[in-house]
Amino acid sequence: MDFGLDEDQRAIRDTVRRFARAELADGYLARAKQNAFPWEEHRRIADLGVFGLLAGPGHNPLDREDFVAAGLAVEELAYADFNLGNAAIPVMLMSSLIAAHGSPRVRGEWLDPLVRGEVYVAFGLTEPATGSDATAVTTTAVADGDGYVLTGEKTSVTMLAHAQAMIIAARTVRDGAPVGVSTFLLPLDAAGLGKSDIPDTGWKPMGRGVLHLDGVRLPADALLGPEGSAFRNVLGGFDFTRPLLALTGIGCAQATLDLTADYVRQREAFGSPLSRFEGVSFPLAEHLTTLEAARLLCYSALWRRTVGERHTAEAAMTKWYGPAMASRAVKDCLLLHGNYGYSEEYSLEQRLRDVMAVEIADGTAQIQKIIIARERYGPDFLPYDRRR
Ligand SMILES: Cc1cc2nc3c(=O)[nH]c(=O)nc-3n(C[C@H](O)[C@H](O)[C@H](O)COP(=O)(O)OP(=O)(O)OC[C@H]3O[C@@H](n4cnc5c(N)ncnc54)[C@H](O)[C@@H]3O)c2cc1C
Repeated sequence: MDFGLDEDQRAIRDTVRRFARAELADGYLARAKQNAFPWEEHRRIADLGVFGLLAGPGHNPLDREDFVAAGLAVEELAYADFNLGNAAIPVMLMSSLIAAHGSPRVRGEWLDPLVRGEVYVAFGLTEPATGSDATAVTTTAVADGDGYVLTGEKTSVTMLAHAQAMIIAARTVRDGAPVGVSTFLLPLDAAGLGKSDIPDTGWKPMGRGVLHLDGVRLPADALLGPEGSAFRNVLGGFDFTRPLLALTGIGCAQATLDLTADYVRQREAFGSPLSRFEGVSFPLAEHLTTLEAARLLCYSALWRRTVGERHTAEAAMTKWYGPAMASRAVKDCLLLHGNYGYSEEYSLEQRLRDVMAVEIADGTAQIQKIIIARERYGPDFLPYDRRR
């Protein structure tokens, strides 16, 4: 067993770490309070090559697809700025989907500017009545002439206000017959779209929104992959976004532990630095331990993905355990700052509100546990009969 990083992986980690800690960390709190997306910083991250890591030859700075390298980049970004780390994940997912399944036109129009950080492609799966039960989407794509007509509503779409396009999942109908759920590249300036914002407690620079589709016409080559193949394409992608999302929580929580260690070293009570009290140092040690366990789980799942081993259960393990441990660590750090931790002038309460988002986004802990039980013990452990 080799837990070491190779030269390329170390180079990615060190490059992103140097940049993120020098250029992003100080601005995190101010940016986190605003609804504006930090395009300038996003483009500077693109310049590091990070967004091309899963976008295929011609975009990937490495000579191979390496999910561990993607994880290292995301964790380092999130250590400095949780939200910019998270914004990188849809770029990686969408660029990999477009590269693998996009038509020549879609690849030609969207891949380059996406990887260069010039445009953003959001992702629309969740609907007002279906989130956890993702396969129950009701938005329709009716094949009509040389294309499709989309009608329905998507909600909880990260970056909707800032994105130029979206990959959307819609139940497809051809000649009056259902053919399953398909994915499409939808430009967000298409006729028949209406948008509104969701006011959130954290995750503000990216934001979330609701998209209404009223007879939106798309050409045939907007389809990604074959008709009816959304869940083979899209949910296959979720296996790697889950450890990446967990790593943003872990990166943010690690940064929060490190700044709390600095704080308790200089803050005194009862004539002694707080750091000398076991009631203060032991929780820090316990959180360092659980975060390290969560981190290893993430890199093990990403390594499995890289070498082509099945990793659905492992990815689900990272997605409940990592965010839960991260939120718990950040909450304890807030408490270790005493009254200052509760103030908006410090970053602690902001970090807690931000980091909790990854406990929900991309599937809650309960859904991950259903996946783990199903993967290990079979369909008797599903909350429904798969044959329904
Ligand atoms: C910050 C953020 C960003 C997001 N970004 C996107 C995005 O870009 N695109 C997108 O499509 N979606 C996005 N989502 C939506 C996200 O994927 C869903 O919110 C999530 O899958 C849960 O679905 P839901 O909100 O409908 O909750 P529900 O499905 O209504 O679930 C509510 C509660 O019931 C629990 N529950 C549901 N079913 C079961 C069960 N069988 N057993 C036990 N418990 C169960 C859930 O765990 C949850 O606690 C985002 C969400 C957040 C918070």
